[in-house]
Amino acid sequence: MKWTNLGHTIRRYSKNANSFHVGIVGAGPAGFYCAQQLLKIIPGCRIDIYEKLPVPFGLVRYGVAPDHQEVKNVINTFSKTASNPNVRFIGNVTLGQHISLNQLKCSYNAVVLAYGAEEDRKLNIPGEHLSNVVSATKFIGWYNGLPTNKSFHVNLDIEDAIIIGQGNVALDVARILLTPIDNLRKTDITEYSLEALSKSKVKRVTIIGRRGPLQVAFTIKEFREMLKLPQVSTDFFEHQMDGIDKIINDLPRPRKRLIQLMYDASREVTSKTKKKIFSLLFLRTPLSILGMDSVEGVELAENILEGEKAKITNEKSLLKCDLLFRSIGYRSVQVDPDVPFDTQSSTVPQNIGVYSVGWLSSGPVGVIISTMSHAFEVAALIGKHFDEGLLNEKKPGYDDISKVLKDKGVITVGWNGWAEIDKTEIERGVKLHKPREKIVDIDEMIQLGGRI
Ligand SMILES: Cc1cc2nc3c(=O)[nH]c(=O)nc-3n(C[C@H](O)[C@H](O)[C@H](O)COP(=O)(O)OP(=O)(O)OC[C@H]3O[C@@H](n4cnc5c(N)ncnc54)[C@H](O)[C@@H]3O)c2cc1C
Repeated sequence: MKWTNLGHTIRRYSKNANSFHVGIVGAGPAGFYCAQQLLKIIPGCRIDIYEKLPVPFGLVRYGVAPDHQEVKNVINTFSKTASNPNVRFIGNVTLGQHISLNQLKCSYNAVVLAYGAEEDRKLNIPGEHLSNVVSATKFIGWYNGLPTNKSFHVNLDIEDAIIIGQGNVALDVARILLTPIDNLRKTDITEYSLEALSKSKVKRVTIIGRRGPLQVAFTIKEFREMLKLPQVSTDFFEHQMDGIDKIINDLPRPRKRLIQLMYDASREVTSKTKKKIFSLLFLRTPLSILGMDSVEGVELAENILEGEKAKITNEKSLLKCDLLFRSIGYRSVQVDPDVPFDTQSSTVPQNIGVYSVGWLSSGPVGVIISTMSHAFEVAALIGKHFDEGLLNEKKPGYDDISKVLKDKGVITVGWNGWAEIDKTEIERGVKLHKPREKIVDIDEMIQLGGRI
């Protein structure tokens, strides 16, 4: 093994690298960043990226809000990685359905699990079954064109919406509900959700959290966007922020700026001429959702803080609403019985030969940049194990898996197939004056880009 310092990158060359096969499961940011770094650390290695959808990019395509187009620019970096001749994208292949982890282990020197955290967490309280009690995850999948959520239904012919959970995902949902429809038209939001949102009567969106203003999970950029929404006033139930001004200066830097902004917003005189209201309600835990068939309100317990933890008191209150979103986080699942899944943390730890990256590894927290750092670290760990000779058994790579897929009649979508889908979406978008109109039908995607 020889180490060479080329500019800022330490590169290692090995005659084994050409026969070093890596199978990555999941074509979201974690999978792509890990591939990008592995190509640097072990030049010449062969990387196959399996993805259950016919299209790549995970939550960048199906989670990141349509009005955050600039965030989606990371797909240019991912596309560069995918265009490397040593990288193969194999879309429409699901681990746990078409292929198993054991098959991957037999075919690859290293398997990297990067399949994210797709399930949403339930509130597990009475009334959650009522109609118009919906999952923020599904709503987001619906407006972003995720094929499994294309038939999701929400009744927007109502005025009062509540979102349980105070993270950035809750703010995304609130912003989409409160943004003037013409601002959304120029994004890649799906046409069917534009149509539904254009008829929305939602007037007030209240975001409820268990803890206080100092513990909110959303970040300043997303909060500032809420304050800038045209025709939307804020109502932070002013007294909730009483006394906060006295401690702001003692807070660490990023938090200090956010809390100052929240405090100032809570003191602003609300213009009565604005049509819609964005509210924040702190220190409340939902106990039950009320209504006959459809949600009519929520019973809340008032909380106090013990340290950083919320503790329920006997004080209760009712809040009226006719739409309730749960937005209390995502969760990974064990997609194959051999995945070394930690059921306590719902994550997959690192093992020699089988690695995990992204939200499947860290839990469903953090933004794309933190996912990138983590993927780079895991790529370095794989490089170390490769160096130490722990992964040098001869493996066939894609040859064996392609036979499995052929035998099962799986139609796969390669990078050229994705390019066809991408081209069609962009062409449809041009006609509608938007960046793209996403195809939401798997069969149509396969017709455009699939091959046996
Ligand atoms: C609603 C929302 C908005 C967000 N907005 C932002 C933002 O504005 N800015 C920002 O920086 N970050 C944002 N994030 C965070 C960012 O999306 C994540 O940090 C990042 O996507 C995590 O990457 P990942 O690769 O671990 O997971 P994912 O992006 O979820 O990728 C996992 C991939 O695995 C595939 N997969 C799942 N199961 C299987 C299987 N069995 N077999 C094969 N493939 C499978 C999935 O289809 C998916 O493509 C947002 C997250 C959410 C939920």
